[in-house]
Amino acid sequence: MSGKVNPPFYNMKPSHWKLIPYGKQWIDDDDVVSVVEVLRSDWLTTGPKVAEFERTFSNLVGTKEAVAVSSGTAALHAAMYAIDIGPGDEVIVPSMTFAATANCVVFQGGTPVFADVKEDTLLIDPEDVKRKITFRTKAIIAVDYTGQPCDYDKLISISKAHHIPLVADACHALGAYYKGKPVGSVADLTVFSFHPVKHITTGEGGMITTDNEEYARRMRIFRNHGITTDHRQREQMGSWFYEMVDLGYNYRITDFQCALGISQLKKLAKWIKRRQEIAALYDEAFKDFPGIKPLGLRDDVLPPKEYISLSGDPVTHIINFMYSLHAYHLYVVRVDEKVIGRTRDEVFKELRSRGIGVNVHYIPVHLHPFYRKKFGTDVGLCPIAEKAYRQIISLPIFPALQDEEVEYIIKTIIEVLK
Ligand SMILES: *Cc1c(COP(=O)(O)O)cnc(C)c1O
Repeated sequence: MSGKVNPPFYNMKPSHWKLIPYGKQWIDDDDVVSVVEVLRSDWLTTGPKVAEFERTFSNLVGTKEAVAVSSGTAALHAAMYAIDIGPGDEVIVPSMTFAATANCVVFQGGTPVFADVKEDTLLIDPEDVKRKITFRTKAIIAVDYTGQPCDYDKLISISKAHHIPLVADACHALGAYYKGKPVGSVADLTVFSFHPVKHITTGEGGMITTDNEEYARRMRIFRNHGITTDHRQREQMGSWFYEMVDLGYNYRITDFQCALGISQLKKLAKWIKRRQEIAALYDEAFKDFPGIKPLGLRDDVLPPKEYISLSGDPVTHIINFMYSLHAYHLYVVRVDEKVIGRTRDEVFKELRSRGIGVNVHYIPVHLHPFYRKKFGTDVGLCPIAEKAYRQIISLPIFPALQDEEVEYIIKTIIEVLK
């Protein structure tokens, strides 16, 4: 971006239209400088920037530990390893999520058990989680779908009652708050992704936050082949000796990626605010529009309009007043075929042809061929997620999205749906 703004694409000839993506990174000159500095230093991988990124991150979300890895998927896998998921174990996951949320259970030989979501928010339904618990259930993974924190109070009480850990897949929710607490410090383990469409990026990258030092120790070994010391630690000890104590992977993140992460984190609060502003514009536009409905908010989650109108430091306000804050990774609307007389797929195609890079998040995971074949999941397992899947469209939302682009998107949607 570097402060430069592209001319609005719709002022160009239609043949020159570039699709407005649903999400996009923002890289400033100071990001570039911090990466280049590390490229010129002695450490390309596992050096001082990894530890600095981890410290900065754990301070931000208020946990004792943060462990940086090579992707959000690696972070999910490491979390499953930390809590010792293995063959015969069941882990409850929501069906309305990215496949990696369930895949990480399978990586460890476990069985994902799909829970349905709530009709209005599409967040994991704690009542369905309760119904799906068996003597084999070893953990619950909750997803803060679109960036809205899920119903942690209820999920924590279920996890406590059954003595199983609660893992949060917060890949959508960096910067979100749950009743005054930063997402990242609410569940036993919380996983983040730094893919370019997420809140901050390291190219590829991920993080797990926890207060449990034993989990953190296990994950640091896991990301490094199951080896007890890394190259840098050995060098400091002047020793060649290392031992592989368990089967691990190479899930390390590089030092220059962590430099980018540190630089990006400084802008997180500003970017969350911009996401709130865009969400408020969409909310207002579709408030009374028949046939199109933004997802609902849980009772304690502040509507974006209220968040923006708060004076002073919004985060302090959140902490003081025990509200929850939506991080708006995605802005999802449901289109009602019966009202508008057209299917979601038709609306989708029309918007794409007009330069709007809408998307669908997600195909319910239990409907993917892999899960049908390997675990025998099928239509009817999570009816609310399945019904929502036929209606949802993700609209563009990212900090660099201009007001004129948002106006164009709103105007076009209203035109198409009329
Ligand atoms: C992005 C994402 C992941 C995976 O993260 P990667 O960094 O792409 O591996 C996992 N779960 C959810 C919900 C995500 O959105």
